[in-house]
Amino acid sequence: MARVLVLHTGGTLMMSKADGGELLPDAFGRDLLAELPILGRAADVSARILFNLDSGDMQPSHWVELARAVHGAVLDDSVDGVVVIHGTDTMAYSASAVALLLGPLTKPVVFTGAQRPLVEVRTDARQNLVDAVFAATLPVPEVGIAFASRVVRGARSMKRDAWALAAFDSPNCPPLVELGVDVGIGPHVRPPAAILAPFDGRIEPRVLAVRVFPGLDPALVQGALRVGVKGLVLEAYGTGNLPHLAGSLIPALEVARAQDVPVLVVSQCPRGFVDMSRYAGGAAAAEAGAISGGDMTREAAIAKVMVGLARLGPGPALRAWLERDVVGERTT
Ligand code: ASP
Repeated sequence: MARVLVLHTGGTLMMSKADGGELLPDAFGRDLLAELPILGRAADVSARILFNLDSGDMQPSHWVELARAVHGAVLDDSVDGVVVIHGTDTMAYSASAVALLLGPLTKPVVFTGAQRPLVEVRTDARQNLVDAVFAATLPVPEVGIAFASRVVRGARSMKRDAWALAAFDSPNCPPLVELGVDVGIGPHVRPPAAILAPFDGRIEPRVLAVRVFPGLDPALVQGALRVGVKGLVLEAYGTGNLPHLAGSLIPALEVARAQDVPVLVVSQCPRGFVDMSRYAGGAAAAEAGAISGGDMTREAAIAKVMVGLARLGPGPALRAWLERDVVGERTT
């Protein structure tokens, strides 16, 4: 029987209601099998508690700690797959960051969580946990998110719905696994490849993501550059367009370039990709040194700039790394 290590980080799945009615992290049932014995029929399950946080309190330092634990498990011959229980609010960020911190994988690493706690009668936690443990036994050596009968690629994922049980999507990438009556594994699942060792936990958290909107005062972006921003993710319009006339962001991008601050441009549209040559605003941004994020999500872009900056520093090597597909996070 496949051996699956479950790493618990917190989230609604194990929460319960406080007296005031708000959901709070509960003491984690150390024996997951006692909570959900059916898991023992899907795999030989062991569990470890890393943290017990609402994922709204996750920081890049938690991503690194989690990635380090997953790295150890992937190198451990007595583990065939890893499940990460995580809050849904920042799961797409963590899954993107862990994927980029680890690089290639030989085993599945499956994040899951729930919109309603496991202790409730009407919960999605049971199905998601069973699916995640099952998916961790499949030949899918990627970081995925198992949610609502699908596994989507972590580095392509976004939380798309605050209230529906189907909370996750990967708009620019088909699901890795469809868990319907049959189990369908996508042809685009990455082949296994040896994990990089030793683990590299460097990360640069001083990255700012800015959503472009009509009226955005460029002085605010310049102000951020003055207070020590090391990397910028610009969520531009449509195919990568942004203002270059009134309220032009181009002078701020020029300041960023002068300060060696990389600017990665992604689209505000969940579907589609950035082509900075399509409109004059995007072309001017590219001229000022901005880098196209292609069809990356905002979540993956932020994590990629943080990891890339720490490992490579600013410069041409970082640009090349941001522009290339590392773990399936972008189409090139
Ligand atoms: N606030 C929770 C969290 O992200 C939401 C959830 O898990 O669904 O931890």
